[in-house]
This record gives sequence, structure tokens and C-alpha cells, in this order.
Amino acid sequence: MLNLSVKTLRILSLTALVSFQSMAFDIIAHRGASGYLPEHTLASTAMAYAQQPDYIEQDLVMTGDGHLVMLHDIHLETVTNVETVFPNRHREDGRYYALDFTLAELRSLNVHERTDAKGKQVYSNRYQGNGQFTVATFEEHISTILSLNATTGGSVGLYAEIKSPAWHREQGVDISKAVLEVLREHHLDDVSANIYIQCFDFAEIKRLREELGAEVKLIQLLAENSWNETPTNYDKLKTQEGIEELSRYVQGIGPWLGHVTRYEGGKPTTELTPWIETAKQQGLLIHPYTYRTDALPPGISADQLLMLIIKKWQFDGLFTDQVPPVKRFLQSQ
Ligand code: CA
Repeated sequence: MLNLSVKTLRILSLTALVSFQSMAFDIIAHRGASGYLPEHTLASTAMAYAQQPDYIEQDLVMTGDGHLVMLHDIHLETVTNVETVFPNRHREDGRYYALDFTLAELRSLNVHERTDAKGKQVYSNRYQGNGQFTVATFEEHISTILSLNATTGGSVGLYAEIKSPAWHREQGVDISKAVLEVLREHHLDDVSANIYIQCFDFAEIKRLREELGAEVKLIQLLAENSWNETPTNYDKLKTQEGIEELSRYVQGIGPWLGHVTRYEGGKPTTELTPWIETAKQQGLLIHPYTYRTDALPPGISADQLLMLIIKKWQFDGLFTDQVPPVKRFLQSQ
């Protein structure tokens, strides 16, 4: 009788383990809780934390005085009032670069909802308030998340992106080295640490491993060559040889959601592209970007898209501007 119950318990716990593993899916809060508050501010990260994702994302650029700050772009004008505060500080191309400002100057700016070139809010139904939000450093975001983990007993991870490393180096700044220094201060440059580092630039991913000795888990982000995101040849990376080479350097890939399926007659199917299948077979984690309930692909509902990503395609995680609907979907499964 005792034996039977021990055996039954074992079977039950094994079943629980199997179902837990099959549902293991990492929700990455994209730019904090960017669906609700201005992206990458401490307020956005604090809100994201309360929504309990598995990871919170940080996008990193450098200031003129050598600080890593949380900004999605090397330019400032789409998320701050820099044109009003420092009207003469743009370059010849008319753009304002974070690298041309000190941290103290950047802190004097107000961070607002992302706007387009005409100054119109990109996601019109998002934050409508007039709150003051400021640019914050990588250090402040790391310490905030680690402190919240300590006070709540939580284990939310970090997911930081090194932005435009080739551009930074052209400007005489080694952003990757600076990122690794901060990670090492926090004992986060470790394959077992609860953090991923992501980058669009494959040459920099290689450099992180080979030249800078990075131990941290790495994710190669994938774009289209036509986006001119980095000097990386993405067509080459998406071949069998490219994926095999990638898997020697990274734990996973971050493809754009619009690129994961095959197209037929100009329309997306629900079948994965062969290169995504190859990456899965190669054992790479697949963390696509970006799930937005207020900017869905045409002809599909928010839950139908999650059904594909999580159930049919069985990806390993997802960048999302809205954590709560993804959590609700996972809990309903
Ligand atoms: Ca990013």
C-alpha cells in the first residue's frame, strides 16, 4: 500500500514535471511595460515587474560621459523633449544623439510616449497622462529589478540589448565592453545568471565571446538586410551553415514575428519557414519580437496569434509590450 502510494506520487510528480516543462515559456516585458507607460523609464520597469514576466528588457546606448542609459535608439527626439530643452544640440542630419549629451543633461529631459517623425504618438491608445518621466541608467534598472527580487522573493530576469555597437565604435566608444563591465560588477556575466544579452550585430556577438570573453547567455536578433540595422548579412545567417555557425556562439535567436512563417501568394501561412525549423533542430531558443495587442498582424486575433506562437510553433519565449494578456493565455492552457 505504501509502495503503491510512493509510486503513485512519483508518477504524479513526473506528470506535473512534464506538463510544467511543456508549458515553460518565457515572457519578456519589451522595453518594460511599454504598452502602459513610456518605454524604458523606471516607472515602466516597476510596472512590468508587478506584472510578473520572466524577463524585463533593457535597450542600451552610451552617453557622452560614459554612462549606459536605457534608450531604444541612439537618437533622442522620438521619446524625449530634447528639441525644446536643447534646440541647438542636433547634428548636421538634424538628429539629437544620446552620445552628444552628458547623463545629467539627459536626466533633465522628459521621456514621453514614442512619437513618429511628425510628432504623433505611435500607439495612439497608450499612455495619455502628463507625468514626468526621466532617462535612467542600466545600473539603476539592474539594481531596481534585483532589489524587487530580494524584497518579493521573486526571480525576474534581465534581457539587455547592446544597441548599434558598430556605430558606437565608429564614434570611439566600446559599448560592449562597458556592458560587460557592469554585468561583471553584478556577477551577471555567467551562463547560469538570470540574464540574456541580445544584439543584432553578429560580428559583435562573436567579438563578445572571442575577444571580450563573455560567459553570459547570448541571443542573436535577426533583421532583414534591407532594414540597414547592422552590417550583418542576415540572409547568410538564415542558411543551414549560418545557423550552425550561430549555434556555436548563442543560446538562441530573436526573429521578427513577421518572418517566422512561410508566405504563399504574398500572404503569410501558419507554417514555419525552413530556417526557423533548422534553428529549432539545432537546439536554439526562439524568442520572437514583438507581440502587441494594439498592433496585431491583419486577420488574426490576439489569442489566435498566441495559440500559434505557444502551442503550434512551440517557441521558447516572446517579447511583448503587454505582459498581462500573455500571462492570462498561459494560465488558461
Ligand atoms: Ca530591444
